[in-house]
Amino acid sequence: MADLIKTPDEIIAELASHYRAIIELLGEDPEREGLVKTPMRAAKAMYQATSGYRENPDGVMKQAIFEYAGSQIIVVKDIEFYSLCEHHILPFFGRVSIGYIPNGNMIGLSKLARLVNVYARRLQVQERLTAEVCQAVARTLSARGVIVSCRAEHLCMKMRGVEKQDSSTVTIDYTGEFADNPQLRQEFFSML
Ligand SMILES: [Zn+2]
Repeated sequence: MADLIKTPDEIIAELASHYRAIIELLGEDPEREGLVKTPMRAAKAMYQATSGYRENPDGVMKQAIFEYAGSQIIVVKDIEFYSLCEHHILPFFGRVSIGYIPNGNMIGLSKLARLVNVYARRLQVQERLTAEVCQAVARTLSARGVIVSCRAEHLCMKMRGVEKQDSSTVTIDYTGEFADNPQLRQEFFSML
């Protein structure tokens, strides 16, 4: 039944029709000059902001794994990301830092940034984003340990006045030697 699978253009057109309905429900005129192209623009923006559903995280990682004999922690810090909270479909955004203890190989730095995007560009919660990045690095590198920390600001909290405007949320996940050894976790945080 392959003909039931929608093409990107069909999905974007359908999203646009829903955005048009939303604009009308808000009491606005979707035909006025400033809004007439908005449903299509919003649809394209949403499709792009959720592009992670159409990417394979393991495939991204496996493109750039190199042999490496070192045994010390490798840290890539402050990878910027933008995501959408799955409860309100409002943005949350911040930075992810990843540390791992290599086990015979290492990964190209830009691939870790792409991996974060694969999981960020979905309907997400910050805790799961952190855990999924951690699991994907551990799975594809067979690292001796992986640790991921994530700091983010959530517009669903700020816009709705639930939180103080300057607050942020920090999440962390770790596997392997980072789970066994608190000193290694300390070493990671001291490198951030
Ligand atoms: Zn939310």
